[in-house]
Parts: sequence; C-alpha cells; structure tokens
Amino acid sequence: MTDLRPETRVVHLPKPSVHGSTPITVPLYQTSGFVFDDPAVFADGMGRPDGAYVYARYSNPTVRALEEAVSDLEGGVAAVAAGSGMGAINTVLLGLLQPGDHVIAQRALYGGTAHMLHDLSERYGLQVTHVPENDPQAVRDAVRPETKLLYLETIANPMTQVADLPGMCAAAREAGILTVVDNTFASPLLCRPLEHGADIVVHSTTKYLSGHADLVGGITVFADDALYRKVWSYSCALGASCDPFAAWLTLRGMQTLALRMERHCANARTVATRLTGHPAVAAVHWPGLPDHPSYELAAKLMPDFGGVLSFDLAGGREAGAKFMSTIEVALLAPSLGGVETLVLHPATTSHRFLDEDGLAAAGIGPGTVRLAIGIEHPEDLWADIARALDAL
Ligand SMILES: *Cc1c(COP(=O)(O)O)cnc(C)c1O
Repeated sequence: MTDLRPETRVVHLPKPSVHGSTPITVPLYQTSGFVFDDPAVFADGMGRPDGAYVYARYSNPTVRALEEAVSDLEGGVAAVAAGSGMGAINTVLLGLLQPGDHVIAQRALYGGTAHMLHDLSERYGLQVTHVPENDPQAVRDAVRPETKLLYLETIANPMTQVADLPGMCAAAREAGILTVVDNTFASPLLCRPLEHGADIVVHSTTKYLSGHADLVGGITVFADDALYRKVWSYSCALGASCDPFAAWLTLRGMQTLALRMERHCANARTVATRLTGHPAVAAVHWPGLPDHPSYELAAKLMPDFGGVLSFDLAGGREAGAKFMSTIEVALLAPSLGGVETLVLHPATTSHRFLDEDGLAAAGIGPGTVRLAIGIEHPEDLWADIARALDAL
C-alpha cells in the first residue's frame, strides 16, 4: 500500500532487508566501518551516498534507516542525519554558503542559530538581514544579487510565532534563492514545510522526533537530489555525523511520535486555555489561542498547534523566579519534546544575556515563563501550575 498516513508510516519504518527475511525493528549496526572483497566497490562507496556502506562518518545502515524514515515523513527525496540539531544546521549553512553571501533570516530564531549566523557574519563575512517571519514583501525588499538563502522556523521559541511558509517560500522562489525551514517545534506530524515550497527542512531530533530526552541529534531533509548530494558530501568532510546508537534510539522513539504529539497538543490546549483565565497571568502565547497573532495562519498550516507555550506573569521577573522555585511536576530544565513537562524562565536562563531592552526586542517579558508540555495527565499538570500561580 502506498498512500498510508504519517501516523501509520512512523510505526512501519523502512528496514534494511537481510537474506530472505526482514527484522521487525531496525537493527543497530554499531560499527565504524565495513569490510570489502572488491576494492572497486569500496572506492565507489566513498564517492556517493547510495553506494556500499564504507565508514560511519559517511553512512551507516541504522542512520540511513532514520534518514529514510524522516525524509518519508517530510515528503523529501533524501536526508542527512547529524550529531545534533546545530550539527545539521551548520552542515547546511557551511555546506551551501561562502564568504560574502547574503542570508535573509527571520528575526525570532533559536538561540544557537542566531549565535551561529552572527559568528559567521563576524568571522567569515556572511551578510545577514533579519525580517519578520510573516512578511513576504520584506523578503522581496531584502533580496540582493548575492542573496543565497532564506532561513525560517515553523514555530519560533519562546513566543510561538508561526512563519508564513507559503508566502515566504514563494517570495524566495521568485528571487531564485533557497528556503531552509527549522521544523523542530512542529514535527512532520503537524507541518511539512516542503509541501509549502521549502527546499530544505532541518530538525533537532533531540526534541519531538526522538521524544525521550535521552540523546542529542539532528537531521536535514531535501526536496532536491542534487542539493542532497552536495550537502551529504560536505557532511562527510565536516564530520558532524550521527552515531548509529543515537539513530537507533531516535527510530525507536519515532514510532510513538503521532501518539505523543496528540497528547502534547491536547495538554498544551488545556494548560493554555486555563492560564488565560488566571489573575496572575497577563498574557498567554500559544498559536492555538484565537487571539494569538499567528492563530489564523497556524490553523491553515497545521492540524494542531504544538506542545510549547509561554505566558507572561503579571508580577514580572520576581514572579518568574518565584514560580520556578514553587513548581514541582514540571521540571526546571532546558530543551523540549520529551515526555516530561519542562519549564524555564527565559529572563534568568536561556536569554539571561539580554537586558530589559534586549528582552523586549525579542518579545520576551521579564515575567515570561516557557512551558514545554509533556504527556502527563493534564489535571496533574494544571494542579501543579495552579498551585505555583496561587503562591505568587
Ligand atoms: C534544540 C533546537 C535546535 C538545536 O538542536 P540541538 O539538538 O540542541 O543541537 C535547533 N532549533 C530548534 C528550534 C531547537 O529547538
């Protein structure tokens, strides 16, 4: 059967076949290299991603199974797995750009990506222009002869703005530049950016795809075979490759992706809705709330709205710090996408290097709290949050 839904395809992952039968699960090939009888086959495998497996920095059957599974979910032609989300992002940026090139990136970016773009501009002469995530005209206005790439995130951190993927990708295509979309917060179950005109999708598989907070990984999916081969070849040289065991754990986690996303989204809806009515809360940011600036766009692009939300405490920085010390079920930790609910206070952790003005420019308040909602029982989550709010 060919037209299976994503919820079924994540369960029935592609498996490398063995003589005469196929294992139910993807085997772990924990080996650094492969042995050859024929030196010509050896040589051929070093030069292309679809030859024989040679060395784990180039390719490995377990890693390849992960690449095929994620590529299939995103509707791509092929994928390159990496040792982390930043490894995947840097493989793309460094593999496709050169000094003097110009990149247009949305203003609200994952911290590591913003840091890297800044570093590449300071040390390697990359030119970067930031635009709003929902303004195709700003892309048209920013394009120059040396513009190579538009960089977007489906759902941004921590204020959960949703990018206008169809409009932004179309503007990039008109200008003849590539679009790269970080789809980590949505997962391919909620959004498939290639269907909206993107050329490349990146993920931190650390988050929803693996789903159990037990590894760091990343992956890049391509709409085009030539682009895939170019980045694969650069990935072999850069060495930000994916370890087979991390790939195996990611595949194992991915089989429950659809179930987990359903619960993450449902729990986020319960918490976001109830937070909205609480007197200690000044504002709630979750794209599934009708008064969120991205609501209409999000409803067009996604069947549900993700598991990350943030809210502003009326009591500001002090209330943020107090909330963190009172909450119990939600764990005080970075990252997202695992089964446990995690909470952080951007002003004192992830964005502590920003002063009040810098926080304001990023749209983050001193009392903003970010929740990465897990799959616990929603009433336990809410009781914990309500208790911490009532103590303020
Ligand atoms: C976590 C994250 C990254 C970086 O991924 P790592 O696996 O931590 O390297 C990139 N983009 C987004 C949106 C993320 O959440």
